[in-house]
Amino acid sequence: MIADMQFCDESNEMENIMINIDQKTDDDGVIFMSVHTEESSKTDEDGNVQKNVEILAIESSCDETAAAVVRNGREVLSNVISSQIALHTLYGGVVPEIASRKHIEKINYCIEAALHEAGRKLQDMDAIAVTYGPGLVGALLVGVSEAKALSFATGIPLIGVHHIEGHISANYIENKDLKPPFVCLVVSGGHSHLVVVKNYGQYEIIGQTRDDAAGEAFDKVARAIGLGYPGGPKIDLAAREGNADAIQFPRVKIEDAAYDFSFSGLKSAVLNYINQSKMQGQEINKPDLAASFQKAVVDVLVEHSMRAVKEFGYNKLAIAGGVASNSALRTAMQRACEKAGVEFYRPSPVLCTDNAAMIGTAGYYEYLNGVRSGMDLNAVPNLPLGDRERRFHANQS
Ligand code: ADP
Ligand code: MG
Repeated sequence: MIADMQFCDESNEMENIMINIDQKTDDDGVIFMSVHTEESSKTDEDGNVQKNVEILAIESSCDETAAAVVRNGREVLSNVISSQIALHTLYGGVVPEIASRKHIEKINYCIEAALHEAGRKLQDMDAIAVTYGPGLVGALLVGVSEAKALSFATGIPLIGVHHIEGHISANYIENKDLKPPFVCLVVSGGHSHLVVVKNYGQYEIIGQTRDDAAGEAFDKVARAIGLGYPGGPKIDLAAREGNADAIQFPRVKIEDAAYDFSFSGLKSAVLNYINQSKMQGQEINKPDLAASFQKAVVDVLVEHSMRAVKEFGYNKLAIAGGVASNSALRTAMQRACEKAGVEFYRPSPVLCTDNAAMIGTAGYYEYLNGVRSGMDLNAVPNLPLGDRERRFHANQS
């Protein structure tokens, strides 16, 4: 099937030149992507010679089936992403049953392709890392069951990984110098969190959304103005033609929790604006609306993040999750960080949305910390970030 696929090299579109991306699309509209980074050095951050640790990572929490081989946490030997976006677009959003079924169809192929790309065999792997939450339960179960079966059959250790910890860890792939502690803004379709990454595997949530996630707001507003699903990239594109100051939308502040977010009021303000325009028989200027809405989101995200780095005394800020690929957010955050003398980190867009390389990176640090999962690992749709239960390897204290 691969031989019939279209080939397109997107590496020129990436902001970070350290990675090369080969992208192929099959007849189902499924995208197979491989992201290759430069070879990492064989010494660790303190200059000690390092044992190579190679991890097979699996991700199936939502509508991407993904597998990757990651070496020493920061070197991506392969990263295969089978996206179902084209299928779910027909329904205006992710249909959980279709997602689970498609994961079952694609997962073995993705794993084989990831191992093949990396030039490795399953037996070469030191661990199998898999997302076990948060996400859609039926979708997560496919990856978890697959990983457990592979681990059981081969005896290779199993590591359950938190999806959001994976998104945050995507920053380590292209930024070899990035080490905790730092502040990270995680903004995706299901989550909006401000997190202090205290150490590898240690996270403290300092702010989160009270209602809609940032990506959810992008998707809902895009649907309301007829741009379709997924809304984020479409708003991002439309906004480039619009005036971000054309319409004044609210920037919500929460009195008793300065780092929390709320996007449902903004979404309602946009819907009210659309209804009022319709009642008055006025045509909506979609690019102006998209740009004004996007600016309202970006302003709040930048303001909260910059206040957090300042008040908590950190000089590094990272962003993660699907919305972190938003061009206006990246530009605004970069400017704010430059002004404040803060180092700004962001993954290339392809590593912002769901992928398995980020799960391999998070899994590597769990592996070093001695975390191992048992055959009782289960999908946990609402797995909390931070104080989640971890099982440690018997040989580790
Ligand atoms: P989750 O894991 O929570 O399902 P992802 O990390 O896969 O979410 O991110 C998907 C979300 O990111 C969607 O809500 C999508 O609209 C949003 N998104 C993707 N690209 C952009 C963009 N350029 N601008 C804004 N939002 C975006
Ligand atoms: Mg995600």
